[in-house]
Amino acid sequence: MRSRNDLVTKSKVIIERCDSYSDQPVDAAIHKLLENLGGLEQFVKPGDKVLIKPNALMGASPKLAVTTHPTVITSVVKAVVRCGGIAWVGDSPGNAYANVEKSLTEAGIKQAAESAGAKVVYFQKHGVTYARSPSGNKKIKRIPIANPVLDANVIINIAKLKTHGLTLYTGAIKNMFGSVPGFHKSHFHKECPDPADFARSIVDVFEITRPKLNIIDAVYGMEGNGPSDGAPRKLGLIMASTDAVALDAVGSYLIGFKPSQIETTKAGYKRGLGEDRLEDIEVVGARLDEVRQADWKHAANLSRLIEWLPEPLYKLAAGWITVNPSIDQGKCTQCMVCVNNCPVKTIHYKDKVVKINLKDCIHCFCCHELCEYKAVKLNKSWLTRLIRI
Ligand code: SF4
Ligand code: SF4
Repeated sequence: MRSRNDLVTKSKVIIERCDSYSDQPVDAAIHKLLENLGGLEQFVKPGDKVLIKPNALMGASPKLAVTTHPTVITSVVKAVVRCGGIAWVGDSPGNAYANVEKSLTEAGIKQAAESAGAKVVYFQKHGVTYARSPSGNKKIKRIPIANPVLDANVIINIAKLKTHGLTLYTGAIKNMFGSVPGFHKSHFHKECPDPADFARSIVDVFEITRPKLNIIDAVYGMEGNGPSDGAPRKLGLIMASTDAVALDAVGSYLIGFKPSQIETTKAGYKRGLGEDRLEDIEVVGARLDEVRQADWKHAANLSRLIEWLPEPLYKLAAGWITVNPSIDQGKCTQCMVCVNNCPVKTIHYKDKVVKINLKDCIHCFCCHELCEYKAVKLNKSWLTRLIRI
């Protein structure tokens, strides 16, 4: 049977091996990726304003694999400048109240961008324009997008390959959620606590922003309790595609998921934004079975259980199958990041300690994602541990 993409051209994902973050191997991998996609000139014309959108979740050292590595950013910026594009590098960290300049400096992104000739744009500082939800989302009808994202002629999306507590996996589609700046992100979590609803809202953001080119930095990705509290793990790859859905289908498969498990990928395919069936994706540069690491540890996430447990049984057991956040008081520095960013304001500072009132918790795991001190623990109930989620 012919797929939708056979009617036009088959989606293509390019995979290049890259053994380290030294300049030379990264430049060589980026060069080959772009060459295999027909050259960057296909996407960038002289004078174009080109927004390069990394994953700059927080001000974490590049060694921790939380953020897109600076060397990859430098390499792409240099390529854009060579094409005559005006390069911008921008994002908004997860903490709505973060000093964005400090965060991007700590992640090495600011220096990497500027040294290669790009201007750094801090999304929080440029206001937003509201776009209508392309899917007719009734929960979030108007989507706030940072103005530099809409002002750019071309967007190059450079994601990091990681596991994720809420969405299972984060790659190309999820990376564009950074286009929603600051406290606006909390609104998405609050209005869409269900992971599938949340994923569909992210796909709205992706559909509005629609990068022309998507790259995933998977030289080192993150396994375990991503997107910030997991462990770096080497995959030794950089990948690219014009089709972010196909790129995520491949990226998630390489770290042990089925593409159909990832809600953002599924929703992207259903909306006709790309291909999620591996058999209908042309993979160039490496065979998937040669580079796949199926034993990656995944984040604690109940949505995997919902997939195979019949709904009535799941509802019956829901009270005992839980993953709840709690604060490790020994590690907590009382920085107030989780208190200020909890979408439902259920984390409080009282009697000189930070505490979570689980009664109102919507399990978005933003507190876990944003705590730089690894002081938010995810506690599995005995039944959750028993069934090894
Ligand atoms: S748990 Fe983490 S984010 Fe929350 S106040 Fe403590 S150190 Fe800050
Ligand atoms: S306590 Fe943490 S997981 Fe619960 S709603 Fe607040 S930020 Fe989300």
